[in-house]
Amino acid sequence: MALIHKLCETHNLSEDELIYLIDNISSEDKEYLFKKASEVRDHYYGNKVFLRGLIEFTNYCKNDCYYCGIRCSNKNIDRYRLSLDDILECCKIGYKLGFKTFVLQGGEDPFFTDDRLINIIRLIKENYNDCAITLSLGERSYDSYKKLFDAGADRYLLRHETACEKHYSKLHPENLNLYDRKKCLSTLKEIGFQVGAGFMVESPFQTTKNLAKDLIYLKELDPHMVGIGPFIPHHDTPFKNEKAGSLDKTLLMLAITRLLLPKVLLPATTALGTISNVGRELGLKAGANVIMPNLSPKKLREKYSLYDNKVGTGDEAAESKRLIKEKINNAGFILDDSRGDNISWERSGTILNTL
Ligand code: SAH
Repeated sequence: MALIHKLCETHNLSEDELIYLIDNISSEDKEYLFKKASEVRDHYYGNKVFLRGLIEFTNYCKNDCYYCGIRCSNKNIDRYRLSLDDILECCKIGYKLGFKTFVLQGGEDPFFTDDRLINIIRLIKENYNDCAITLSLGERSYDSYKKLFDAGADRYLLRHETACEKHYSKLHPENLNLYDRKKCLSTLKEIGFQVGAGFMVESPFQTTKNLAKDLIYLKELDPHMVGIGPFIPHHDTPFKNEKAGSLDKTLLMLAITRLLLPKVLLPATTALGTISNVGRELGLKAGANVIMPNLSPKKLREKYSLYDNKVGTGDEAAESKRLIKEKINNAGFILDDSRGDNISWERSGTILNTL
Protein backbone atom coordinates (compact mmCIF):
# COMPACT_ATOMS: atom_id res chain seq x y z
CA MET A 1 0.00 0.00 0.00
CA ALA A 2 1.42 3.34 -1.09
CA LEU A 3 0.58 5.03 2.21
CA ILE A 4 2.60 2.50 4.19
CA HIS A 5 5.62 3.10 1.97
CA LYS A 6 5.20 6.81 2.42
CA LEU A 7 4.97 6.40 6.19
CA CYS A 8 8.11 4.23 6.24
CA GLU A 9 10.08 6.61 4.09
CA THR A 10 9.01 9.99 5.45
CA HIS A 11 7.90 9.07 9.01
CA ASN A 12 4.97 11.32 8.38
CA LEU A 13 1.41 11.27 7.05
CA SER A 14 -1.33 13.86 6.88
CA GLU A 15 -4.51 13.60 8.92
CA ASP A 16 -6.51 12.43 5.90
CA GLU A 17 -3.88 9.87 5.00
CA LEU A 18 -3.86 8.53 8.54
CA ILE A 19 -7.65 8.27 8.54
CA TYR A 20 -7.56 6.38 5.26
CA LEU A 21 -4.83 4.06 6.47
CA ILE A 22 -6.54 3.27 9.78
CA ASP A 23 -9.90 2.59 8.14
CA ASN A 24 -8.73 0.63 5.12
CA ILE A 25 -5.65 -1.36 6.00
CA SER A 26 -5.93 -5.05 5.12
CA SER A 27 -4.67 -7.76 7.44
CA GLU A 28 -1.88 -8.53 5.00
CA ASP A 29 -0.76 -4.90 4.94
CA LYS A 30 -0.98 -4.83 8.72
CA GLU A 31 1.53 -7.68 8.96
CA TYR A 32 3.82 -5.74 6.66
CA LEU A 33 3.37 -2.59 8.75
CA PHE A 34 4.27 -4.48 11.95
CA LYS A 35 7.37 -5.86 10.26
CA LYS A 36 8.44 -2.39 9.18
CA ALA A 37 7.75 -0.96 12.64
CA SER A 38 9.89 -3.72 14.19
CA GLU A 39 12.70 -3.01 11.76
CA VAL A 40 12.72 0.66 12.68
CA ARG A 41 12.73 -0.18 16.40
CA ASP A 42 15.57 -2.67 15.82
CA HIS A 43 17.53 -0.08 13.88
CA TYR A 44 17.60 2.34 16.82
CA TYR A 45 17.35 0.09 19.88
CA GLY A 46 18.02 -3.44 18.65
CA ASN A 47 15.67 -6.18 19.84
CA LYS A 48 15.98 -4.97 23.42
CA VAL A 49 13.10 -4.59 25.81
CA PHE A 50 13.48 -2.07 28.61
CA LEU A 51 11.93 -2.68 32.00
CA ARG A 52 10.29 -0.11 34.25
CA GLY A 53 9.20 -0.97 37.75
CA LEU A 54 5.79 0.54 38.36
CA ILE A 55 5.03 1.76 41.88
CA GLU A 56 1.40 2.78 42.23
CA PHE A 57 1.89 4.86 45.32
CA THR A 58 -1.53 6.43 45.84
CA ASN A 59 -5.03 5.73 44.56
CA TYR A 60 -6.45 8.94 46.03
CA CYS A 61 -7.44 11.28 43.24
CA LYS A 62 -9.11 14.68 43.22
CA ASN A 63 -10.16 14.26 39.59
CA ASP A 64 -13.26 12.62 38.26
CA CYS A 65 -12.30 11.30 34.81
CA TYR A 66 -15.27 9.32 33.51
CA TYR A 67 -13.20 6.32 32.41
CA CYS A 68 -11.01 5.85 35.45
CA GLY A 69 -11.71 3.49 38.36
CA ILE A 70 -9.88 5.64 40.91
CA ARG A 71 -11.95 8.77 40.09
CA CYS A 72 -12.93 10.72 43.19
CA SER A 73 -16.62 9.91 43.00
CA ASN A 74 -15.99 6.18 43.14
CA LYS A 75 -16.89 5.51 46.76
CA ASN A 76 -16.48 1.76 46.41
CA ILE A 77 -12.72 1.50 46.50
CA ASP A 78 -10.40 1.38 49.46
CA ARG A 79 -8.05 4.29 49.20
CA TYR A 80 -4.39 3.87 50.15
CA ARG A 81 -1.15 5.80 50.13
CA LEU A 82 2.29 4.27 50.39
CA SER A 83 4.56 5.69 53.05
CA LEU A 84 8.08 6.81 52.24
CA ASP A 85 9.36 3.55 53.72
CA ASP A 86 6.92 1.51 51.62
CA ILE A 87 8.11 3.25 48.48
CA LEU A 88 11.76 2.72 49.34
CA GLU A 89 11.02 -0.93 50.05
CA CYS A 90 9.47 -1.29 46.57
CA CYS A 91 12.61 0.24 45.09
CA LYS A 92 14.82 -2.07 47.12
CA ILE A 93 12.98 -5.14 45.86
CA GLY A 94 13.01 -3.76 42.33
CA TYR A 95 16.69 -2.91 42.40
CA LYS A 96 17.55 -6.42 43.51
CA LEU A 97 15.55 -7.73 40.57
CA GLY A 98 17.58 -5.53 38.25
CA PHE A 99 15.20 -2.64 37.62
CA LYS A 100 16.92 0.63 36.71
CA THR A 101 13.79 2.75 36.36
CA PHE A 102 11.14 3.34 38.98
CA VAL A 103 7.85 4.81 37.84
CA LEU A 104 5.94 6.54 40.61
CA GLN A 105 2.36 6.67 39.43
CA GLY A 106 -0.71 7.81 41.25
CA GLY A 107 -3.94 9.72 41.21
CA GLU A 108 -3.77 13.48 41.66
CA ASP A 109 -3.42 13.32 45.41
CA PRO A 110 -2.98 16.68 47.19
CA PHE A 111 -1.34 14.89 50.12
CA PHE A 112 1.77 14.55 47.97
CA THR A 113 2.97 18.13 48.12
CA ASP A 114 6.13 19.23 46.37
CA ASP A 115 8.09 18.88 49.59
CA ARG A 116 6.92 15.32 50.18
CA LEU A 117 7.68 14.35 46.61
CA ILE A 118 11.09 16.05 46.65
CA ASN A 119 11.96 14.07 49.74
CA ILE A 120 10.92 10.80 48.08
CA ILE A 121 12.83 11.58 44.88
CA ARG A 122 15.99 12.56 46.75
CA LEU A 123 15.97 9.46 48.90
CA ILE A 124 15.48 7.15 45.93
CA LYS A 125 18.31 8.91 44.10
CA GLU A 126 20.57 8.76 47.14
CA ASN A 127 20.07 5.03 47.43
CA TYR A 128 19.99 4.15 43.75
CA ASN A 129 21.89 6.81 41.85
CA ASP A 130 22.21 4.65 38.76
CA CYS A 131 18.42 4.50 38.39
CA ALA A 132 16.00 6.77 36.58
CA ILE A 133 12.87 8.11 38.26
CA THR A 134 9.75 8.54 36.19
CA LEU A 135 6.81 10.43 37.63
CA SER A 136 3.19 10.07 36.57
CA LEU A 137 1.17 12.27 38.89
CA GLY A 138 -0.99 14.31 36.59
CA GLU A 139 -1.19 18.05 36.11
CA ARG A 140 0.90 20.39 38.25
CA SER A 141 2.28 23.91 37.95
CA TYR A 142 5.51 24.90 36.21
CA ASP A 143 7.11 25.56 39.60
CA SER A 144 6.12 22.20 40.92
CA TYR A 145 7.40 20.30 37.87
CA LYS A 146 10.63 22.31 38.00
CA LYS A 147 11.21 21.48 41.67
CA LEU A 148 10.62 17.78 41.02
CA PHE A 149 13.06 17.87 38.11
CA ASP A 150 15.67 19.72 40.13
CA ALA A 151 15.28 17.14 42.89
CA GLY A 152 16.35 14.46 40.42
CA ALA A 153 13.26 13.16 38.61
CA ASP A 154 14.20 12.21 35.05
CA ARG A 155 11.00 11.48 33.20
CA TYR A 156 7.30 12.32 33.33
CA LEU A 157 4.36 10.44 31.89
CA LEU A 158 1.22 12.39 31.18
CA ARG A 159 -1.00 10.95 28.51
CA HIS A 160 -2.86 13.62 26.59
CA GLU A 161 -5.75 11.08 26.45
CA THR A 162 -7.25 12.56 23.27
CA ALA A 163 -6.13 15.44 21.11
CA CYS A 164 -9.63 16.70 20.22
CA GLU A 165 -11.21 19.19 22.57
CA LYS A 166 -14.72 17.92 21.98
CA HIS A 167 -13.73 14.34 22.63
CA TYR A 168 -11.73 15.43 25.66
CA SER A 169 -14.86 16.96 27.14
CA LYS A 170 -16.74 13.67 26.68
CA LEU A 171 -14.15 11.83 28.76
CA HIS A 172 -13.57 14.41 31.48
CA PRO A 173 -15.57 16.75 33.71
CA GLU A 174 -15.64 20.47 32.93
CA ASN A 175 -12.75 21.49 35.17
CA LEU A 176 -10.31 19.48 33.03
CA ASN A 177 -9.45 20.53 29.51
CA LEU A 178 -7.14 19.68 26.68
CA TYR A 179 -5.49 23.09 26.68
CA ASP A 180 -4.17 22.61 30.23
CA ARG A 181 -3.13 19.05 29.51
CA LYS A 182 -1.09 20.08 26.46
CA LYS A 183 0.36 23.04 28.32
CA CYS A 184 1.65 20.68 31.01
CA LEU A 185 3.28 18.50 28.37
CA SER A 186 5.10 21.39 26.73
CA THR A 187 6.15 22.71 30.15
CA LEU A 188 7.57 19.32 31.10
CA LYS A 189 9.53 19.21 27.87
CA GLU A 190 10.81 22.73 28.30
CA ILE A 191 12.03 21.92 31.82
CA GLY A 192 14.06 19.02 30.48
CA PHE A 193 12.14 15.91 31.45
CA GLN A 194 11.98 12.96 29.09
CA VAL A 195 8.29 13.23 28.43
CA GLY A 196 5.65 10.65 27.66
CA ALA A 197 2.26 11.45 26.14
CA GLY A 198 -0.32 9.00 24.84
CA PHE A 199 -3.93 7.97 24.59
CA MET A 200 -6.44 5.18 25.02
CA VAL A 201 -7.55 3.25 21.98
CA GLU A 202 -11.30 3.00 21.36
CA SER A 203 -12.28 5.03 24.36
CA PRO A 204 -15.99 5.93 24.30
CA PHE A 205 -17.02 8.27 21.45
CA GLN A 206 -13.61 7.99 19.77
CA THR A 207 -13.65 8.32 15.97
CA THR A 208 -10.93 7.52 13.45
CA LYS A 209 -10.46 11.25 13.05
CA ASN A 210 -9.77 11.50 16.79
CA LEU A 211 -7.10 8.81 16.47
CA ALA A 212 -5.52 10.55 13.49
CA LYS A 213 -5.39 13.77 15.51
CA ASP A 214 -3.79 11.91 18.41
CA LEU A 215 -1.06 10.70 16.08
CA ILE A 216 -0.56 14.14 14.52
CA TYR A 217 -0.32 15.70 17.98
CA LEU A 218 2.30 13.12 18.99
CA LYS A 219 4.28 13.87 15.85
CA GLU A 220 4.19 17.59 16.70
CA LEU A 221 5.04 17.17 20.38
CA ASP A 222 7.79 14.66 19.57
CA PRO A 223 7.81 13.07 23.04
CA HIS A 224 10.46 10.62 24.26
CA MET A 225 7.86 8.05 25.28
CA VAL A 226 4.33 7.24 24.19
CA GLY A 227 1.82 5.24 26.23
CA ILE A 228 -0.94 3.64 24.18
CA GLY A 229 -3.37 1.07 25.54
CA PRO A 230 -6.92 -0.04 24.90
CA PHE A 231 -9.71 1.56 26.90
CA ILE A 232 -11.13 -1.00 29.33
CA PRO A 233 -14.36 -0.30 31.23
CA HIS A 234 -14.40 -0.17 35.02
CA HIS A 235 -17.60 -1.31 36.73
CA ASP A 236 -17.84 1.73 39.03
CA THR A 237 -17.58 4.44 36.38
CA PRO A 238 -20.08 6.09 34.02
CA PHE A 239 -18.47 4.06 31.21
CA LYS A 240 -19.13 0.70 32.85
CA ASN A 241 -21.24 -0.53 29.95
CA GLU A 242 -18.94 0.63 27.19
CA LYS A 243 -16.95 -1.78 25.04
CA ALA A 244 -13.25 -2.34 25.60
CA GLY A 245 -10.80 -1.30 22.89
CA SER A 246 -9.56 -4.06 20.61
CA LEU A 247 -6.19 -5.74 20.36
CA ASP A 248 -6.17 -5.16 16.65
CA LYS A 249 -6.66 -1.41 16.75
CA THR A 250 -4.18 -1.00 19.59
CA LEU A 251 -1.46 -2.90 17.71
CA LEU A 252 -2.12 -0.78 14.66
CA MET A 253 -1.71 2.41 16.70
CA LEU A 254 1.55 1.13 18.21
CA ALA A 255 3.00 0.31 14.80
CA ILE A 256 2.01 3.64 13.25
CA THR A 257 3.42 5.47 16.27
CA ARG A 258 6.73 3.63 15.95
CA LEU A 259 6.94 4.67 12.30
CA LEU A 260 5.98 8.29 13.00
CA LEU A 261 8.45 8.55 15.91
CA PRO A 262 11.23 6.05 15.17
CA LYS A 263 13.24 6.69 18.35
CA VAL A 264 10.35 6.70 20.79
CA LEU A 265 10.22 4.43 23.84
CA LEU A 266 6.96 2.60 23.46
CA PRO A 267 5.52 0.33 26.15
CA ALA A 268 3.47 -2.74 25.48
CA THR A 269 1.08 -1.69 28.24
CA THR A 270 -0.58 -3.54 31.08
CA ALA A 271 -3.96 -2.73 29.50
CA LEU A 272 -2.82 -4.50 26.32
CA GLY A 273 -1.82 -7.50 28.44
CA THR A 274 -5.24 -7.36 30.08
CA ILE A 275 -7.33 -7.65 26.91
CA SER A 276 -5.22 -10.53 25.57
CA ASN A 277 -2.79 -12.89 27.27
CA VAL A 278 -0.41 -12.48 24.36
CA GLY A 279 -1.12 -8.76 24.05
CA ARG A 280 2.23 -7.55 25.28
CA GLU A 281 4.22 -9.97 23.11
CA LEU A 282 2.21 -8.89 20.07
CA GLY A 283 2.80 -5.27 21.10
CA LEU A 284 6.54 -5.88 20.98
CA LYS A 285 6.17 -7.45 17.56
CA ALA A 286 4.32 -4.35 16.38
CA GLY A 287 7.15 -1.99 17.41
CA ALA A 288 6.93 -1.57 21.19
CA ASN A 289 10.07 -1.91 23.33
CA VAL A 290 9.17 -1.30 26.98
CA ILE A 291 7.41 -3.41 29.63
CA MET A 292 6.31 -2.00 32.97
CA PRO A 293 5.89 -4.75 35.55
CA ASN A 294 4.22 -3.92 38.81
CA LEU A 295 6.39 -3.34 41.87
CA SER A 296 3.64 -2.12 44.16
CA PRO A 297 3.12 -4.10 47.39
CA LYS A 298 1.14 -7.17 46.41
CA LYS A 299 -1.68 -6.67 48.90
CA LEU A 300 -2.48 -3.21 47.52
CA ARG A 301 -2.25 -3.92 43.81
CA GLU A 302 -5.87 -4.69 43.22
CA LYS A 303 -6.86 -1.42 44.87
CA TYR A 304 -5.17 0.51 42.06
CA SER A 305 -8.00 -0.42 39.76
CA LEU A 306 -8.01 1.94 36.81
CA TYR A 307 -10.10 -0.63 34.92
CA ASP A 308 -11.51 -4.13 35.47
CA ASN A 309 -9.46 -7.36 35.48
CA LYS A 310 -6.09 -5.63 35.34
CA VAL A 311 -3.28 -8.16 34.96
CA GLY A 312 -0.33 -8.25 37.32
CA THR A 313 -2.37 -7.87 40.49
CA GLY A 314 -2.14 -11.53 41.45
CA ASP A 315 0.51 -13.98 40.50
CA GLU A 316 2.09 -12.28 37.50
CA ALA A 317 4.18 -9.58 39.09
CA ALA A 318 7.66 -8.14 39.26
CA GLU A 319 8.76 -10.97 41.50
CA SER A 320 8.17 -13.30 38.65
CA LYS A 321 10.75 -11.49 36.58
CA ARG A 322 12.03 -14.83 35.39
CA LEU A 323 8.64 -15.48 33.81
CA ILE A 324 8.63 -12.09 32.16
CA LYS A 325 12.12 -12.68 30.86
CA GLU A 326 11.09 -16.05 29.49
CA LYS A 327 8.08 -14.58 27.71
CA ILE A 328 10.18 -11.80 26.22
CA ASN A 329 12.86 -14.22 25.08
CA ASN A 330 10.29 -16.55 23.57
CA ALA A 331 8.92 -13.64 21.58
CA GLY A 332 12.43 -13.11 20.16
CA PHE A 333 13.57 -10.21 22.34
CA ILE A 334 16.20 -9.72 25.02
CA LEU A 335 15.80 -7.94 28.33
CA ASP A 336 18.04 -4.95 28.65
CA ASP A 337 19.23 -4.07 32.12
CA SER A 338 20.17 -0.43 31.54
CA ARG A 339 18.13 2.65 32.46
CA GLY A 340 16.80 2.69 28.93
CA ASP A 341 16.88 6.40 28.18
CA ASN A 342 15.63 7.70 24.88
CA ILE A 343 18.63 7.68 22.55
CA SER A 344 18.16 11.28 21.49
CA TRP A 345 18.07 12.61 25.05
CA GLU A 346 20.78 14.04 27.22
CA ARG A 347 20.11 15.50 30.63
CA SER A 348 20.96 19.15 30.87
CA GLY A 349 21.43 21.02 34.13
CA THR A 350 22.59 19.64 37.41
CA ILE A 351 20.62 18.05 40.18
CA LEU A 352 20.24 20.50 43.03
CA ASN A 353 21.09 18.93 46.35
CA THR A 354 20.20 21.94 48.40
CA LEU A 355 16.92 23.75 48.25
N1 SAH B 1 -3.05 10.68 37.48
C1 SAH B 1 -2.07 10.36 36.48
C2 SAH B 1 -2.04 8.88 36.18
C3 SAH B 1 -3.30 8.39 35.56
S1 SAH B 1 -3.47 6.66 35.42
C4 SAH B 1 -2.33 11.18 35.26
O1 SAH B 1 -3.27 11.96 35.25
O2 SAH B 1 -1.55 11.09 34.33
C5 SAH B 1 -2.53 6.35 33.97
C6 SAH B 1 -3.32 6.17 32.68
O3 SAH B 1 -4.20 5.08 32.76
C7 SAH B 1 -4.21 7.31 32.28
O4 SAH B 1 -3.48 8.33 31.68
C8 SAH B 1 -5.20 6.65 31.33
O5 SAH B 1 -4.84 6.82 29.96
C9 SAH B 1 -5.12 5.17 31.71
N2 SAH B 1 -6.45 4.70 32.13
C10 SAH B 1 -7.24 5.18 33.11
N3 SAH B 1 -8.41 4.55 33.12
C11 SAH B 1 -8.37 3.64 32.12
C12 SAH B 1 -9.30 2.69 31.60
N4 SAH B 1 -10.53 2.57 32.11
N5 SAH B 1 -8.90 1.92 30.56
C13 SAH B 1 -7.68 2.03 30.04
N6 SAH B 1 -6.77 2.92 30.47
C14 SAH B 1 -7.12 3.72 31.50
